[in-house]
Amino acid sequence: MSILLRNISFLDIENEEIINNIDIYIEGNKISKIGKSLDVDATEIYNGENKLVTPGFINAHTHLGMSYFRNYADDLNLMDWLNNEIWPIEAKLNAEDIYYSSLLSIIENIKSGVSTFCDMYYEMDRVADACIETGIRGVITRGLTDIDGKGEEKLEEIDELYKNYNNKSNGRVKVYPAPHAIYTCSEDFLKEITRRTNELYDGILHVHLSETLTEVNDCKKEHGMTPIEYVESIGMLDSHVIAAHCTHITDREIEIVKDKEFYPVYNPSSNLKLASGFTPVQKLLDNGITVAIGTDGDSSNNNQDILEEMHIGGIVNKAVEMDEKAVKAIEILKMATVNGAKAMGFENLGLIKEGYLADLTIFNLDSNSFTPRNNLISALVYSANSDDVSCTIVDGKFIMKDRQILSLDESKVRKIVNDRWEDIKKR
Ligand SMILES: [Zn+2]
Repeated sequence: MSILLRNISFLDIENEEIINNIDIYIEGNKISKIGKSLDVDATEIYNGENKLVTPGFINAHTHLGMSYFRNYADDLNLMDWLNNEIWPIEAKLNAEDIYYSSLLSIIENIKSGVSTFCDMYYEMDRVADACIETGIRGVITRGLTDIDGKGEEKLEEIDELYKNYNNKSNGRVKVYPAPHAIYTCSEDFLKEITRRTNELYDGILHVHLSETLTEVNDCKKEHGMTPIEYVESIGMLDSHVIAAHCTHITDREIEIVKDKEFYPVYNPSSNLKLASGFTPVQKLLDNGITVAIGTDGDSSNNNQDILEEMHIGGIVNKAVEMDEKAVKAIEILKMATVNGAKAMGFENLGLIKEGYLADLTIFNLDSNSFTPRNNLISALVYSANSDDVSCTIVDGKFIMKDRQILSLDESKVRKIVNDRWEDIKKR
């Protein structure tokens, strides 16, 4: 199988520019050649006129199984929201509920140009199934807690998950452990997960960290340290850490993490909506830290639209820093592509470059958002929206073409999710 994107404009992230009238040749699951008027034999030729191709976007922190809670419990404090609204109803979800919610979330992700998600939830074997069936790339991280006394069971479950799904579907699925947060895991449990991460799971883990002031203050009270100082003290930072939020990261913590395999994931909508605070993105970037971006789940965002996240993320830090130059559009594009790929542990993903995985997003330039054609890098962050995404390619295959998801019937999935939600509320 080979695809030739003929005469297309593309976003060259490394050189921070848009290059016009280029051919991109995809062979198997890789970008094989990039150049002018390529003379190649392709199974499929895609006309790139009025189209712009970017690396596929990477949604580096989400909870796909939470679609049911969209617009269900809003305008509440994080701890009230979790303890009194989300966790009681979440406990009623079964594996099939989570599978269909994941399908719906994956549809939303693909339609905004996401080619890789990083999910933290449970019943992750069914999330992995949804990933495999829809053709998207997925980082499947099992949320782990031991406050319910069931830590050991969950560790056994992730062993099984790793055995059955890691590197499945041509390496499209990755499985990592995810200690949920420092306030839902005991110290011994966090140490055990870290030990297993390094021994059994490629050395990569995913965690919520320093999300709210309550978390920071409770951590100081209990351990005499801030959250990142605490996880360093128990050895977690010797692993590759995908750290969602880092809203309250301090200067001292930045010093601790800046030379480590530590990847903060910025979730601006969730942080704004839950009034959690503002991740100091420009300061992190200035310190050479690789920052990724994610939507978080539908209950705190309330959607899976990475382009909306990029837009909000791109403008909010300017206001917070009182600096128009903070977090430029190209930085946001790096966060959503090459930085996200590094955070996920991929070496050949996130750029349009020969030898890289062919995960690509194609925009329709014949749209209001791109008219007139001034700076297209600005347009991608400040004016584009999901309707402008025509196609999403993952692992060398179209998974959405002309806005049609190729693997399933969207309206059927929406109906099933609506019916299931009515049932869940009665349980
Ligand atoms: Zn989260």
